[in-house]
Amino acid sequence: MGHALNTVLQDILSRWKRMSGYNVLWLPGTDHAGIATQNVVEKQLASEKLDRHTLGRDKFIKRVWKWKAKSGGTIIHQLKRLGASCDWSRERFTLDEGLSKAVREVFVHLYEDGLIYRDNRLINWCPRCHTALSDLEVEHEELEGNLTYIKYPLSNGSGIFITVATTRPETMLGDTAVAVNPEDDRYKDYIGKTVDLPLTGRQITVISDPAVDPAFGTGAVKVTPAHDFNDEAVAKRQDPPLKFITVIGDDGNMTEYAGKKYAGLDRYECRKIILQDLKDLNLIEKQVAHKHAVGHCYRCKTITEPLSTPQWYVSVQSIAREAIKAVRDERIRIIPKSWENTYFAWMEDIKDWCISRQIWWGHRIPVWYCQEIRSDICRSKNGIIVARVDPQTCPFCGSAGLKQDEDVLDTWFSSALWPFSTFGWPDNTDDLKTYYPTSVLVTGFDIIFFWVARMIMMGLKFMGDAPFRDVYIHALVRDMKGQKMSKSKGNVIDPLIMMDRYGTDAFRFTLAAFAAQGRDVKFSEDRVEGYRHFVNKIWNAARFIMMNIEDDAGPDRSGEAEISPLQPKDLASRWILSRLAATADEMNTALKEYRFNDAANSVYQFIWHEFCDWYIELSKIEMRDQQSKENVIQCLFYTLDISLRLLHPFMPFVTEEIWQKTKGERRASQRHEPESIMISEYPKALQRYYQEEEDMSYIIDAVMGIRTIRGELNISPSLKLNASIRTYSEFAERVLHENVQYIRSLAKAEEIIIGTNLHKPEGSATAVKSSMEIYIPLKGVLNIASEIERLNKDIAKIEASIATLNKKLFNDDFLLRAPKEIVDKEKTKYDELVKMKERILESIKLLNEAEVKNET
Ligand SMILES: [Zn+2]
Ligand SMILES: [Zn+2]
Repeated sequence: MGHALNTVLQDILSRWKRMSGYNVLWLPGTDHAGIATQNVVEKQLASEKLDRHTLGRDKFIKRVWKWKAKSGGTIIHQLKRLGASCDWSRERFTLDEGLSKAVREVFVHLYEDGLIYRDNRLINWCPRCHTALSDLEVEHEELEGNLTYIKYPLSNGSGIFITVATTRPETMLGDTAVAVNPEDDRYKDYIGKTVDLPLTGRQITVISDPAVDPAFGTGAVKVTPAHDFNDEAVAKRQDPPLKFITVIGDDGNMTEYAGKKYAGLDRYECRKIILQDLKDLNLIEKQVAHKHAVGHCYRCKTITEPLSTPQWYVSVQSIAREAIKAVRDERIRIIPKSWENTYFAWMEDIKDWCISRQIWWGHRIPVWYCQEIRSDICRSKNGIIVARVDPQTCPFCGSAGLKQDEDVLDTWFSSALWPFSTFGWPDNTDDLKTYYPTSVLVTGFDIIFFWVARMIMMGLKFMGDAPFRDVYIHALVRDMKGQKMSKSKGNVIDPLIMMDRYGTDAFRFTLAAFAAQGRDVKFSEDRVEGYRHFVNKIWNAARFIMMNIEDDAGPDRSGEAEISPLQPKDLASRWILSRLAATADEMNTALKEYRFNDAANSVYQFIWHEFCDWYIELSKIEMRDQQSKENVIQCLFYTLDISLRLLHPFMPFVTEEIWQKTKGERRASQRHEPESIMISEYPKALQRYYQEEEDMSYIIDAVMGIRTIRGELNISPSLKLNASIRTYSEFAERVLHENVQYIRSLAKAEEIIIGTNLHKPEGSATAVKSSMEIYIPLKGVLNIASEIERLNKDIAKIEASIATLNKKLFNDDFLLRAPKEIVDKEKTKYDELVKMKERILESIKLLNEAEVKNET
C-alpha cells in the first residue's frame, strides 16, 4: 500500500505537469536490493538442499539474475496496473552496465580523494545474513532482559570481589579489563590491581575510564572490546590499548577463544550454561529484570552482533556538511517542513558509512590486493590497488598475483547515484544537461537517511548541484483504526485486489483523497467503494450529455482542446463556468503545494455536487427553451471536458475512456485535438463570474430550505408545496423573482411568493438561511396534530431502545466479557439512536411552531 501511494502521488504530479506544458520525465527503475534478494535466492537453494558455497559465486549470481528477471517484471507490471505514466523505454536497474560504470567511477574517485578507506573495527554484523550492516540497517527494539551481577575475585587472594553488571553474561569470556570511573572513591584503591576472570583462568586488570557511569549497576563494568561498541572505545583510549578477544564468531556461535567447554555453542545457549556455571561457583550476586535496546537486522530480524572485521568505509562528514547547507539555504525544500529537523539531527551526528557487504549479489568492490608486494611503493600502498579498469598486474610492483576483494557494495551506494547515473554520468550526456537537477522526489520517511540524504550528498559531490529541488515525504497507509498494516495483525490490504474489485481509478482516488500532509492515510475498503460510485456518477453524466448532443440538431459546438471561453447568457451556465474556474484555481494551487487531498476533494465536490447535482438539473430546465438549448448543451459539454481534464491526473482511466468516446464531438469543431487527454492542456486561469456565483447562492438557499422542511417532516417528494420566501434584501428578492422557475422546478413548489416584508403564513413550517426565511404552509399538506402524535410514538420507541442499550453499556460485566467489536457496534448503535431522537425532536419543534401560529 505504501508503494501504491508513492506511485499514485508521483503519477498525479507527472500528469498534472505534463498537461501544464512541462517536459516531464518520470524514469522508472529498480535497485538490486542486495541482502534481501540474496536471502530469497538462498532460501530457494536451501529448499533444494543446496547453498551458495557449493554452487560457487558465478553460478549463484546467474541464479539470482534469473530470479530478478521474474520479480523485476512483477514490480513493473504493478506500476503499470496503477497507471503510472513513466517513460518505460528508459527503465533502469542499479546493476545495469551504465549504472555500474558510475558506481565504479564514484568509488575510485572517493578513494582518490581520501574519502573511502578500509578499517578493522567493530561493525554491526548479522550472523544469519552473514554480512556487515550499516548503522541504519540495524533496528533497535526494547526487549525485556536481565541484568546479571557477577562477582570477579581479586587475584591477591584477599577474598574481596569486584561485582560487575551485564546484560550479556556470555561475553565475559572475552573480557580484557574491568573499568571504573577515576572519580569513584569506592574503587580508587583497586585501579591497577587484577581480578581472576571466572571460568577462564585469565587475569584482567582494573582500569579507570571517565566514561564509566558510577550510577549504573555497581559502578564497575566489564570491558569486552571485541563485542561492545562502548568497550571498543574504552579499549582504544587505554595506553597501551586493551586486547580484543573475539569469543563470538560470524555465525553467532562461540569461537575457540571462548574456551573448550563453550566453543561451538550458539551464543544464547552459551549464555544459559555460563549462568549455571557461575551459579555453581557462587559467583552470581543477583539478577534483576532490565529493559534494554537490542539491535536487529532490518532484513531478517536476527539479533545483530558487534563484530570486529575489516570493512570499507566512506568518510561522510565533509559531504554531509554540504548536504546540510543545501537544505538550510533552501536549494532543497523538504515537505512537510517538519521532516527537516529529523534530517538535520541525523546529518549533524552522521557516522562513517560502512559500505562493504559479505554477500555476492551486488557491485563487487573494485579493489585488488597484491599478493607479492615486490616494491617499496607497493608496500607503502599496503598492496592495495583501486582501479577503474580491472588490473592484470600490480601497477606498483608488476606482480601478476592479484586478488580482488570478495565483498560487494551496500545497495544504497548505487541507489545514491540514481539521479545522475541513470542519465549516463560520468559522460556529460544531453539527458544529464536537460534533466539534472530533477524537480521532485516523492518518498516515504523510512528511507530519508538510507536514500534521500545519500542522494543529496552524492549529487552535491559529483554534480555540484542538489539532485532535486523538492522532497515530498508522504505518510504511512494504515487501516481504518489507524493501525499499521501487518501480516501478523491480518489487516493487510492488497492493492491488486482493490483494483480488481473497484477499478484502479477508485483506488487511486481514495489514496489521493486521504493523503493529507503529515497525516497517515486511514484506508478502508468502504472508501474505495464510495469512490467507485463517483466514477459511475461521472460516467452517467457523460452519457446524459452525449444523449442530448445526439438529440440536438444544432450546428457547432466548441468544447475544445484549446480552452476557449464560452459566453453563455443564462445564470446557471455562467454560474457553473465560474465554479469550474474556481475549482481549476484551487486544484492548481493545491497541487503546487503538494496538498493532494485538497485537490482531490475540490474536484470531487465540484463534479458530484455542483456539476451533477445542480447544473445538470438546472440545464434540464434551460433546455426546455429551444432558444437557449444550443448554448446550454455547449456549456454542458465544455464543463464535462474541462472537468475530465482536471480529474485526469487522479483518475486516468475513466477520463481517457470518456474523452475517446466523445472525440467526434470535439472534432466537429475542426480544431487541433490531441490524441489523448493526457497530453491535452490542463485548465487554469479560466473566467470567473462573481456576480452569478452570488446570485446562484440565493437560489440554492431557497431550494435547500424547502428541501430541508420536506425532509424533516417526511413530506413525499412528489407532493407539490407552496412557499413564501422573505428575503433580507431587495436585491435577493429580485434575483429570486427572475429565476423563480429554477426554484419551482428543483424544489417541486407550486406557488412561490417572494418579498422583503412578508409575514409568516399561519400554520407553516420555517427554515432560516443567512439571506432569507422560508415558510411552507402545512394546511392541506399534513395534519399537524396527528403528525406530532406519530413522531411522539417514534420517540417513545427510540427511548426504550436507548434505555436497553444504556443498561448494557454501563454494565461492567458486559464491557469486560464481550469482544471489543461487539462493544464498539453497540456504542455506534447508541450514538445513532441519540442522533435520530434529536432529529425527530427537531421535527416536532417545527410542527409545534406551525401549530401555535395556527391557534393564534
Ligand atoms: Zn539478517
Ligand atoms: Zn604489488
